[in-house]
Amino acid sequence: MIDARNIIKEYTTGSGTLRVLDDVSLTVRQNDFLAILGPSGSGKSTLMNVLGCLDLPTSGEYHLDGIDVLRAKEEQLADMRNRKIGFVFQKFNLLPRLTAVQNVMLPLLYRGVDEGEAYEKAKEKLALLGLENRMTHRPNELSGGQQQRVAIARAIVGDPPLLLADEPTGNLDSKSSVDALNIFHELHGQGNTIVVITHDRDVAESLQQVVYIRDGKLYEN
Ligand code: ATP
Ligand code: MG
Repeated sequence: MIDARNIIKEYTTGSGTLRVLDDVSLTVRQNDFLAILGPSGSGKSTLMNVLGCLDLPTSGEYHLDGIDVLRAKEEQLADMRNRKIGFVFQKFNLLPRLTAVQNVMLPLLYRGVDEGEAYEKAKEKLALLGLENRMTHRPNELSGGQQQRVAIARAIVGDPPLLLADEPTGNLDSKSSVDALNIFHELHGQGNTIVVITHDRDVAESLQQVVYIRDGKLYEN
């Protein structure tokens, strides 16, 4: 599903060029459940953005579900993001003017699902994350952990074949973390492919497979 080869990602900053991903190669097969574990600043979120086709690498080869990402048209990538990938962003990226349920409905509305059906599915996912009584709250009326759970509900509402989750338990207490990971395990059991990005060794090591990232390089151990 994910076939990334020799990915380099550089940012040009005031003080020169910063290489954030340094010759990263990664294969993720359908129904893998992989953790990418690494310290702050090691390049995890940058890697998620590249894997999710939100950002292009500076060089390398990347095939996602058979599509040559570096040569694909933006519409093709947008379609891929909308239909095939669920994202949990580290900073949640919830829309501040929308309520929790409206935020969770978005991926379905983008795909053309009708509003009534989108509402029912969003409500169901929010209930699964224990937020049935926070549906009409706006993000700034929710705690950090509640916002994170809304972000998880939004990522999974469309049952995406690939889930990319960046620090999905970073703001959760231990019970909510276990609940969220159980939801991911259930999705994995249904055949979905899941990549969890984390700095938390316990979270990473509870998953099927771990790869390590340090200073923009991937290691098997
Ligand atoms: P954390 O665990 O703190 O979220 P991370 O592993 O997700 O860290 P990244 O956000 O991928 O790390 O950042 C990796 C490095 O790239 C950091 O040193 C950061 O300063 C740098 N960086 C990230 N985005 C940019 C950007 N747009 N321009 C310049 N440098 C950037
Ligand atoms: Mg990060």
